[in-house]
Amino acid sequence: MSVGAGPLVEFDHSYARDLPALAVPWTAAPVPAPTLLALNEGLAAELGFDAEALREPAGVALLVGSGLPDGARPVAQAYAGHQFGGYVPRLGDGRALLLGELVDRGGRRRDLHLKGSGRTPFARGGDGKAAVGPMLREYVTAEAMHALGIPTSRALAVVATGEEIVRESLLPGAVLARVAASHLRVGTFQYAAAAGGPALVRDLADHAIARHFPDVAEADNPYLEFYRRVVDAQASLVARWMLVGFVHGVMNTDNTTISGETIDYGPCAFMDQFDPATVFSSIDHGGRYAYGNQPGIAQWNLARLAETLLPLIDEDPNVAVDAATEVVTEFVERYERYWASGMAAKLGLETPDAPLVQDLLALLHAQRVDFTRFFRALSAHLRGAGARSLFAQPAAFDAWVARWEVLLPPDRSAVAAAMDRVNPVHVPRNHLVEEALAAATAGDMAPFHRLVDVVTSPFDERPGLERYAEPAPAGSGRHVTYCGT
Ligand code: AMP
Ligand code: MG
Repeated sequence: MSVGAGPLVEFDHSYARDLPALAVPWTAAPVPAPTLLALNEGLAAELGFDAEALREPAGVALLVGSGLPDGARPVAQAYAGHQFGGYVPRLGDGRALLLGELVDRGGRRRDLHLKGSGRTPFARGGDGKAAVGPMLREYVTAEAMHALGIPTSRALAVVATGEEIVRESLLPGAVLARVAASHLRVGTFQYAAAAGGPALVRDLADHAIARHFPDVAEADNPYLEFYRRVVDAQASLVARWMLVGFVHGVMNTDNTTISGETIDYGPCAFMDQFDPATVFSSIDHGGRYAYGNQPGIAQWNLARLAETLLPLIDEDPNVAVDAATEVVTEFVERYERYWASGMAAKLGLETPDAPLVQDLLALLHAQRVDFTRFFRALSAHLRGAGARSLFAQPAAFDAWVARWEVLLPPDRSAVAAAMDRVNPVHVPRNHLVEEALAAATAGDMAPFHRLVDVVTSPFDERPGLERYAEPAPAGSGRHVTYCGT
């Protein structure tokens, strides 16, 4: 069916074409009363859409998967995954669909994908639905991450379905339309290895290489080099999360991408007071995915990817294991290099200084200092304002800051300006997100739109927005996010 005056979009389907064994043709559930809640006009334009057309009924129908152009072949993608360390052989898109791929204005191929679009053959016990609150959480968090310069899937739109869905209470349903470089996951490789063996893994790896790392096709050992590139992309990604205090919350192998983008925002949140043990997810009882564990978990997930690639890396299993082990071990150095250079930039330093950073983090932890606020206060300190007031026992800060100041380049105002370009004022703090989602669930979208506006200019201090830069009011309790969204 073509929509409106003509098709809004033409999809390609390289995933379904290259990997039919990993794609189940499927269609979205009908949506009784679709209402567009949020549309990302900038992203729509990047993708070549006319934003105004997307607001029309035919556009909204596209955004929930009911009005697709001729030739569209939506599929549910198959994947497996280790969830909290336990292997689940068959997960897949239980409530999601890949509508197809678009080539954007920059020539990049991007997936357009729906979440909350109804049950698929992978739904297991789930209802295939999603609620307005969690889909808006994914929208605002992904857009904040993008504005922070962190690779991520993006949110194109959230459409309320007009249905009520059953969670702990009845909640308004929604469909999220999101865009990603691809939805290839570590779990996709795990599924391919188990379901089709090395031949299917090879098809998948070739598809992933063509899509994300085309130059490795020329390497001596393309599959080993591919693996190295994924390891590097994830090391860089997780370092960036750590540098802004982001806690993903569900770093299962099915939520770990091959592209190196952040994906599947569920019980995620930004840490306020610095504490490596920070966990928000209600289901992460052991703290497996706590802030401080994220690099180690990423490496663990990448080891699971290596297991699927061994037969491609070398026909001699011992040679393959040695080669893959060397690369996964390199994760630590790569991660530390990204983290150290990122921390140097946050502190306005030309070269990393590991003891200075370690001592700072110990200080922030001991005195329960807000992570995001601290770095802006530190550039303010160079301009004569105070970071000292963030510390209950400022003497320890004075001692640290004296060590820091002697390492700085002489032009202090340039240092402060450079720091402010990498240290955000505004991250989507939990209490603000909760407030916006609660209002949206009750029908008032204004706080959500305001929050999106604030966090998509994260480095700008703007008059009147002071409240958005502050931590949660004292006594508001520990923030908990819920899975089963
Ligand atoms: P997630 O924790 O969102 O990454 O999802 C893990 C798995 O559960 C994926 O296979 C999802 O497709 C599936 N899933 C989550 N929620 C639902 C739902 N309401 N209905 C069907 N499948 C779901
Ligand atoms: Mg997931």
